[in-house]
This record gives sequence, structure tokens and C-alpha cells, in this order.
Amino acid sequence: MTTATHLPHRTAATPRPPAPAILELAGLHVSYGAIGALRGIDMVVREGEVVALLGANGAGKTTTLRTISGLHVPTSGEVRFCGERVDGVPSHTVVGLGIGHSPEGRRVFADMTVLENLHMGAYRFKRLRQEDLDRVFALFPRLAERRTQQAGTLSGGEQQMLAMGRALMGRPELLLLDEPSMGLAPLIVAQIFEIIKEINAQGTTVLLVEQNAAQALKIADRGYVLETGRITLHAPAHELLDDPRIRAAYLGEATG
Ligand code: ATP
Repeated sequence: MTTATHLPHRTAATPRPPAPAILELAGLHVSYGAIGALRGIDMVVREGEVVALLGANGAGKTTTLRTISGLHVPTSGEVRFCGERVDGVPSHTVVGLGIGHSPEGRRVFADMTVLENLHMGAYRFKRLRQEDLDRVFALFPRLAERRTQQAGTLSGGEQQMLAMGRALMGRPELLLLDEPSMGLAPLIVAQIFEIIKEINAQGTTVLLVEQNAAQALKIADRGYVLETGRITLHAPAHELLDDPRIRAAYLGEATG
């Protein structure tokens, strides 16, 4: 026997060690007055992943993203970003740590131009950085064409692009996307999902809240299902796509 047989070695069958966690939610509870919106959420997002968060209306998806961003303070539990506690940290500080948020409903600054909106996204830096603007315009050429247009006059798809571009101007390591496909025509939805894939390929980790479960799971590595404030299922995305419960509840298929 040679010494080489005693050395640890990796074969094709050896699983890769998981990437480090960029985001961890542990026992997260969030309430609106007496109403418990999140009732003990545990979730991990690893560096480089796209993770889909699925659930029906009112399940708590937006509340989860807003809590990660520092817009809600949990009643108990923890949010960790890169290992550090960020629950209770103000939202402007959270942005500065490297979490970008493209909110539900886009919420662009309607009276400002495209360029002014992108400036707002870069406020964690002292000035707008040309390389970040170039990256956003390369991802969204439509925004470059319309840089001087008032954001309120953009189409829904363009406003979605602007909301994502604005979040990217803060150079996030983790991008939170809340319903990016909401209310958009199928062709635009397909473009938006392609761009999310590209943003991820460029190195940004993505946590994606979507009603469009089929599209979300096609680009995601893993998915979590939220039901009335609790995670009821989490699995690799391809398993969720094949799961009859998911197909019936979120992909509009009749049960057998
Ligand atoms: P949707 O897909 O409809 O946006 P969601 O999964 O994002 O739903 P949330 O918006 O997080 O769900 O809402 C979770 C629960 O918290 C719901 O029951 C909702 O009515 C409640 N809720 C959300 N925001 C508030 C608020 N500001 N005040 C009181 N209750 C709220």
C-alpha cells in the first residue's frame, strides 16, 4: 500500500463543502401589534446562491425581506449577515453593510430622473461610482437610453429595472428582490429573470421573493416555502419543482 492511499482526496462523488452562509435567520418572530406575521423562521442563504422564498399572499414574504433590511425589528430571533447580528440595526446601516433591497411595488422616486434614482442608490458611497453606473447600464440598456426621463413616466418593466439598478448601485453582496415579476408582461418577465441570473453570475447572492414560483425555481438553487409565518418546506429548487404539493399549490396544477 502506498502512502497516497492514506491521503484525503476528492473524487467526483465527494460532495463539495457548502459555501459559507451570507445570511442566517434563526427563530425569527415579527409581529404587527397583536398579529404574528413571522412565527419562528429559520433560513440560510449561502454565498453565491439564488434562493427563492415562495408563499401565498400574506404568508410573510415581504415582512421577511423588510426585517432583513432593518425596516422591521423582530420581537425575537436573530438575523445574521456574514456572521454578524443585524437585527435591530437601522436600514441605512444595513445597506452600508452590503444588503441591497428592491422592494415590492418598486417604489422608485417618481419625480426624479432615472439617473437621480440611481444616485440615491449609491448614497452609501460619498459619490456615484462610474463603474457601478456602467454595470447597471450594461445590465439594463433601457435605463441608459432613458437616463434623463422622469421615473414616474417609465413603464412597469422599466421601473422594475430601475428598482433593481438602484439597489445594485450600493454594491450589495446580497440582493433582496421582492416580486420583481409582479404585473409585468411575459416577455418582460423572461428578461427580468435572465438579468437576475446574470447579476448572480457576476457574484451577487440573491434572495428572491416571487409569486411566479415556476420561473423563480428555474433560476434558484434552493427554495423555501412560507405559510402563515412559518417555513413549511425547504429543498433544492429542482426538488420543489417536482414536488406535487408545490405543483398543486404554486404552479397551478390539479392534484392527481
Ligand atoms: P403578499 O404576497 O401579498 O405581498 P406577503 O407574503 O409578502 O404577501 P406580508 O406582506 O409580509 O406577506 O404580510 C404578512 C402578514 O402581515 C399579513 O397577514 C399582513 O396582513 C400582515 N401585515 C403586513 N404588513 C402589515 C402592517 N403594516 N400592519 C399590520 N399587518 C401587516
